[in-house]
Amino acid sequence: MLNIILFGPPGSGKGTQAAKLIEKYGLLHISTGDLLRQEIKDETPLGLEAKNFMNKGLLVPDDVVIGMISARLDAETEAKGVIFDGFPRTIAQAEALDRLLEFKKAPIVLMLALHVNDEALTERLLKRGATSDRADDQNEGIIRRRIEVYKNETSPVANYYDKQSKLVNIHGEGTIDETFALLVKELEEVA
Ligand code: ADP
Repeated sequence: MLNIILFGPPGSGKGTQAAKLIEKYGLLHISTGDLLRQEIKDETPLGLEAKNFMNKGLLVPDDVVIGMISARLDAETEAKGVIFDGFPRTIAQAEALDRLLEFKKAPIVLMLALHVNDEALTERLLKRGATSDRADDQNEGIIRRRIEVYKNETSPVANYYDKQSKLVNIHGEGTIDETFALLVKELEEVA
């Protein structure tokens, strides 16, 4: 199985690139943000709990997200591989993912980390907020908090995979197609 993590701050293009990668490689896309938004839409207890954190730009508690991922992976038996998008976002989540995948004998092969400067991120997210119904994209203060949370709680996860020699850094400030080409180049080496 080709299990990879697409990593990077909010607005770095993970969702956009994941959609292109699954089309090219026939992988399964698992985005915790999308799963959580679906839970909110369905008004499940998990969704109701998550919403309070998401609308403030804070992370949803680890146990909630890990439980959700575990259930999602259990339901999956056929996939050629998974692109994880927006997960893991903390060291505790990374450790939990490693354990879950060890059980399936299908470890993470690669972490592809997108790099985009803060100003470009804020600009991209405000633009997305103008045309979507995502509350967390519509307020500059909340966007800045998400970027801060990324720096403090999420960026150490890159180090965690670097220690396993799985981290590859990708320049993410070019066009969608330019970034995609950089990702494909890295994937061709492991696929
Ligand atoms: P973005 O990367 O643009 O912030 P996401 O859709 O990945 O968008 O995440 C939106 C929000 O969902 C996050 O700000 C956070 O509140 C919550 N979330 C998503 N994934 C996780 C996760 N793995 N752990 C904790 N919270 C998460």
